[in-house]
Amino acid sequence: RAKSQQRAGHFYFSRSMGVEIRERVRMMHALRSGFQRGELFLAYQPQVDLATSRPFGAEALLRWRTEDGRMIGPDRFIPIAEYSGLIVDIGEWVLRQALAELVRLRAGGHRDFTMSVNVSQVQFRHPHFVDMLRRALEDTGAPADYVELEITESMAMEEPALLVEKLAQVKRTGVSIAIDDFGTGFSSLSHLQRLQVDRLKIDRTFVTEITGSARGSSIAEMVIQLGRNLGLSVIAEGVEDERQAHILRSLGCPLAQGFLFSRPLSPEALLEWLGNQAIIEAA
Ligand code: C2E
Ligand code: MG
Ligand code: MG
Ligand code: MG
Repeated sequence: RAKSQQRAGHFYFSRSMGVEIRERVRMMHALRSGFQRGELFLAYQPQVDLATSRPFGAEALLRWRTEDGRMIGPDRFIPIAEYSGLIVDIGEWVLRQALAELVRLRAGGHRDFTMSVNVSQVQFRHPHFVDMLRRALEDTGAPADYVELEITESMAMEEPALLVEKLAQVKRTGVSIAIDDFGTGFSSLSHLQRLQVDRLKIDRTFVTEITGSARGSSIAEMVIQLGRNLGLSVIAEGVEDERQAHILRSLGCPLAQGFLFSRPLSPEALLEWLGNQAIIEAA
């Protein structure tokens, strides 16, 4: 962690801070060339109906395997992609890649499957975002009503007027909107009501807390209620064990995603996983 030290009213950059800045610049160059060389790829995490464990869709998650074989997580490189503006091109590539995968899945018989794609606020704010989305849908032939975009709650709080209009434009393309990491921000009820969103994703931290203290489930419970009152779909993310799934079910949470059901998978592994699910259900 970088620390600045304050002495007699002056700020000094500590040595570790210089190292961190250099490291960021280095990573930015590596990311740019890695993206061009095809080092980025997507993993797909199944999303299921909690009552039946039946899959209905997947979330596309970005992965980076560097030239020397190291895996770098999106939590580390997305901020750098945002900061450098690279996220605009990377985000378009992610969207096209995920939509093409959706088309392949449909061709393979998974006709009701939905694809969820994360969108960064830098990407979303870009003036051509909606045009880019429309073209990606057209070029890939992906059906808009089986596509969902995930925006974060913190982003949903900024620039309300602009956001309301942009979300309306996105909705007109036919894709739906989920608010990711819900519960970590401070969206007011009235604000939420003005946004044309379709689904709330309960942040993993609140799913983790659910089995802890008696009050541990209160935020998850509140989000589920909120979804019900506003007529929004609700999905719990990061469900890791049966106890969590059980409590979520008893709270009336309809949908879930997490290691309990499946880790993020390669396209081939996803197809195989979906095939196995069908067999399990038939048995
Ligand atoms: P997110 O959208 O909230 O995605 C959920 C994260 O939780 C993913 O981490 C997923 O692998 C992880 N996860 C899922 N189930 C479980 C579980 O049961 N337990 C635990 N411990 N973790 C679980 P990942 O793939 O590392 O992604 C981290 C974040 O990076 C994402 O959070 C999202 O904000 C961002 N991200 C990923 N792909 C993209 C992308 O294509 N574009 C943008 N803008 N952001 C992305
Ligand atoms: Mg997400
Ligand atoms: Mg999330
Ligand atoms: Mg998250």
